[in-house]
Amino acid sequence: MKRLSERLALEKLQKLKDDFTKSIKSNYEHKAKSCLTCETNGACCLDAHFVNVHITKLEAIAIQNTLANLTEHNKAKISQRIERTINKYKLSRFGDTFSQTYACPLFEKGTGCLVHFEGKPLPCIQHACYENKEDLPPDELLAEQEGRVEKLNILAYGKRTTWLPLPLAIHTGRTD
Ligand code: SF4
Ligand code: SF4
Repeated sequence: MKRLSERLALEKLQKLKDDFTKSIKSNYEHKAKSCLTCETNGACCLDAHFVNVHITKLEAIAIQNTLANLTEHNKAKISQRIERTINKYKLSRFGDTFSQTYACPLFEKGTGCLVHFEGKPLPCIQHACYENKEDLPPDELLAEQEGRVEKLNILAYGKRTTWLPLPLAIHTGRTD
């Protein structure tokens, strides 16, 4: 199997996410509530009983690269928030990690998602508030994109990736 450099894999990852975003926007999102007029903006990202977004190693690198563009002050602030989130919600890489929930540290009041344009996780791209259940994008769409992201990880790192809760995955202590 021909390996991909991490740089190339990151480019392909962003292209995959851009295409997924376009497809969700044009095929589904017009039937959802508008986030621009949402009276509880960010509730979806900060609901500590609901958010369990997991990402792969390659996605974690993409997010770290986006966060690297922040000012030093903001970098330090977000880094502390990530650390606090891990401790507060006792996030762990062991056991049934998908049962662990948390308020996402990448939501910034007044700005929104800090990785909205680059690095946004797949479930966040797919998520919106729909009044009718039948208008929701089917789960298979997300599963298909996740399969592609797994493949990119294998091409970049030569082994299967571990999906981790986002704060743990982007914490600098990640070892795999
Ligand atoms: S996804 Fe839902 S809760 Fe979140 S900002 Fe949009 S409308 Fe509001
Ligand atoms: S990554 Fe962005 S969209 Fe996803 S939960 Fe965090 S702040 Fe919200």
